[in-house]
Amino acid sequence: MHESEHDHDRYDLLVVGSANADLVVGVERRPAPGETVLGSDLAVHPGGKGANQAVAAARLGARTALLARVGDDAHGRLLLESQRAAGVDTAGVLVGGAPTGVALITVDPSGDNSIVVSPGANGRLTPEDIRAAGPLFAAARVVSVQLEIPLDTVAEVAGAMSPGTRLVLNPSPPAPLPGHVLAACDPLVVNEHEARYILGEAAGTTPGAWARALLALGPRSVVVTLGAAGALVADSRGDDVVRVPSIEVEAVDTTGAGDAFTAALAWRLGLGEELADAVAYAVGVGAAAVTRQGAQESFPTAEEVSAL
Ligand code: ADP
Repeated sequence: MHESEHDHDRYDLLVVGSANADLVVGVERRPAPGETVLGSDLAVHPGGKGANQAVAAARLGARTALLARVGDDAHGRLLLESQRAAGVDTAGVLVGGAPTGVALITVDPSGDNSIVVSPGANGRLTPEDIRAAGPLFAAARVVSVQLEIPLDTVAEVAGAMSPGTRLVLNPSPPAPLPGHVLAACDPLVVNEHEARYILGEAAGTTPGAWARALLALGPRSVVVTLGAAGALVADSRGDDVVRVPSIEVEAVDTTGAGDAFTAALAWRLGLGEELADAVAYAVGVGAAAVTRQGAQESFPTAEEVSAL
């Protein structure tokens, strides 16, 4: 066997994306400009969509690698440790160039979040970093990417896909996507908010219409997640839009549900499942993730998904 053939099987999933430290403080009310308020004890959680997806996949049993950038600081070490603890291969995590990305989060008594994100090192993950990671791309069946890293870096990822490797893209936070990036997606995974952003005025009134309109923009397939209503699948190779129902659970905290969903979907596609079957599995993973507090802490094992 050629080394490259062998290599193609090394990872089920390569996640390219962000890694943030989430710094969370509870407040009675938010300060006005110039004002200081006291808050609760600080909680620090590993987060960022890339880091979340990698942990979610590894917890399910996927052989997962993360390509990301963190700072040479305590937050960067926290992120590396949480990835390794979940079983993620962190050889592709670059260190230095800027402080680790941080999300400064205040939570008020009604549970509403206000968030300031400092992208830090995430903003320094460059197209050159992607080109230098060729062996990682050659070793993965599926590559998953989101938009918390620079758009030209995402475009480089889309261009780096070899035939037989599948790109899963979640455009979050939403931003305008070049046509060649959209065309590489198989699938494009959006929630309602992201679907409306991408379609703009062209958005139809029903999720089914969104799915068809998104497919018309060029991706090979589209998945629209609908929270407690499950998900829709539209495939350029298939017939019409397929609805995948959700699993009924008591929702405690939906933070990270979309990341868990997308990671599970990408992993199952890498195992060779049909898109609708992979979505059906991912819906179970998303449902399990909303039954617990937090993001990475809430992600289920494969056993917990089967139990649902
Ligand atoms: P995002 O977190 O990106 O906004 P969604 O809210 O659509 O995305 O959630 C992603 C997936 O997680 C859904 O497709 C569904 O499978 C699952 N999910 C989310 N909320 C619930 C819920 N209340 N009950 C069951 N499953 C849910």
